[in-house]
Amino acid sequence: MNNKYKILLVEDESNIRTFVTALLEANEYQVISALGCSEAKTMYASHIPDLIILDLGLPDGDGTSFLSELRQKEITPVIVLSARSDEREKVKALDLGANDYVTKPFGSAELLARIRSVLRMYRHSADAGKLPGGKFTLGELVIDYDARRIHIGSEEIKLTQTEYNIIAFLSEHCGKMMTYSAIIKAVWREATDDASIKKLQVNMANIRKKFGSQLGESGYITNELGVGYRMNGDK
Ligand code: CA
Repeated sequence: MNNKYKILLVEDESNIRTFVTALLEANEYQVISALGCSEAKTMYASHIPDLIILDLGLPDGDGTSFLSELRQKEITPVIVLSARSDEREKVKALDLGANDYVTKPFGSAELLARIRSVLRMYRHSADAGKLPGGKFTLGELVIDYDARRIHIGSEEIKLTQTEYNIIAFLSEHCGKMMTYSAIIKAVWREATDDASIKKLQVNMANIRKKFGSQLGESGYITNELGVGYRMNGDK
């Protein structure tokens, strides 16, 4: 079964490892697992998985140390499993290069959806959603990068330059949760502080008004309070 995606699960809690392994295998993924950071490195090197599901609290160190080491040379997608509700941990993992995270306890459907989304994004990372002629399309949403114009269906959404830059940036990283600091750095070339986060939130509120109901949770952009924004990749 060489066409199966191979997933490396790094998790020390046996009940979660058993649950996730059974879930993934039932969904046609091939699963290999590691109980800690050093075993994860060995397993990664010998199996070169398509995706890594990484617990943060591991017996021989923090999962983020494995992540930062991996990111020095590899772009393999990583979904972080975090028991911590602490937003700073999620932001840290995302800024270190995690593609997404799932907070424990999580449901089967949620984990599978994240896996599909991250794999899809990774597969098409070079040209995700982009049409010839510098266009991006997602459901009814079309972004014309050359003309800097946005349409939803036949309706043009009139954005300010800054609002457009935020949406264009999120679309270029479609499917990935982008932290406040990543967006602020890209759009304003500024360091992140309370004032710049406020500025971003005000712009997002204005974008939300212009997009109407189509922007929200079930729509084009997900807002994770205290973390960042994601343009949803599977519309
Ligand atoms: Ca753990």
